[in-house]
Amino acid sequence: MHAYFADTDPLQLPPGHRFPAQKYGMLREALRTRAPDIQVRAAPLAPIEDLLRVHAADYVQGVLEGKLSAQQQRDIGLPWTPITPLRSRRSVGATLAALRAAQRDGIAANLGGGTHHAGAQGGAGFCVFNDVAVATRLAQSMAAVQGRAVDVAIIDLDVHQGNGTADIFADDRSVFTLSLHGEKNYPFQKASSDLDIELPDGCRDQAYLSALQHALDTLDQRFHPDLVFFLAGADVHEGDRLGRLALSKDGVAQRDAMVLAWAKSRSLPCVMTMAGGYGRDLQTTVEVQVQSLQLAAQAAQNWPLQRPFGS
Ligand SMILES: [Zn+2]
Repeated sequence: MHAYFADTDPLQLPPGHRFPAQKYGMLREALRTRAPDIQVRAAPLAPIEDLLRVHAADYVQGVLEGKLSAQQQRDIGLPWTPITPLRSRRSVGATLAALRAAQRDGIAANLGGGTHHAGAQGGAGFCVFNDVAVATRLAQSMAAVQGRAVDVAIIDLDVHQGNGTADIFADDRSVFTLSLHGEKNYPFQKASSDLDIELPDGCRDQAYLSALQHALDTLDQRFHPDLVFFLAGADVHEGDRLGRLALSKDGVAQRDAMVLAWAKSRSLPCVMTMAGGYGRDLQTTVEVQVQSLQLAAQAAQNWPLQRPFGS
């Protein structure tokens, strides 16, 4: 399996900033020894024309040229620096590269990404551009060149609601947005996904996994995708300082295995993004992410692809 990283351009954050920027390097280091079969690659910059498939031109220009307002920067929660355009384009580029690899191999991953709070008009909650939305639009446009339509399911299991993604695809019947998230967690004003399942604080493995089974069954009844994106947020884990849920590491493994088996048994190309993870001990977050990637790499063996598209 191929996996792409975007942290070639390190974020420049003020001392003590709560965003765990060092997590990405820790994850790559852990994969080197613990998952040597995963092909880890630097991501390319996402082309600006692809960003514009989703985001308003004046917002993209604001990010690229450092002309975001103070309010826009507060919404994102990260200060603009000269690194911001590179880093945020590369973060999307990692998902675009994973999309191309998944079309070839069945499954591929972005070691970051899952920036699901970003909407068409602006960023939010540590998210500048919405990588999965951009990749969805790119996949659909690649297929359209071949005279094909591609329906996309976005299975967002980050503990926070994928409100930006939900808003972007609110009126789009070709994209099914599914979000399983903490009811009491950010964003406090939720958007409407095609299927939202809200979980109470302290939710544990069994309740979570039965909610997920119900969600996948409902998705099956309502939609038949050609491509799936899986936001495998580690922030559902009990060791997360922002998550408010209480999944064990084994519970997260069962979650991942369910989604991977669901996609594989339907012969769907699957793009996995790591999304959120803010462990009180960051190494715990990295362990959960390594486990997710190891499970994906195992599932990658003999992943069937019935209807490849694009190139
Ligand atoms: Zn999250």
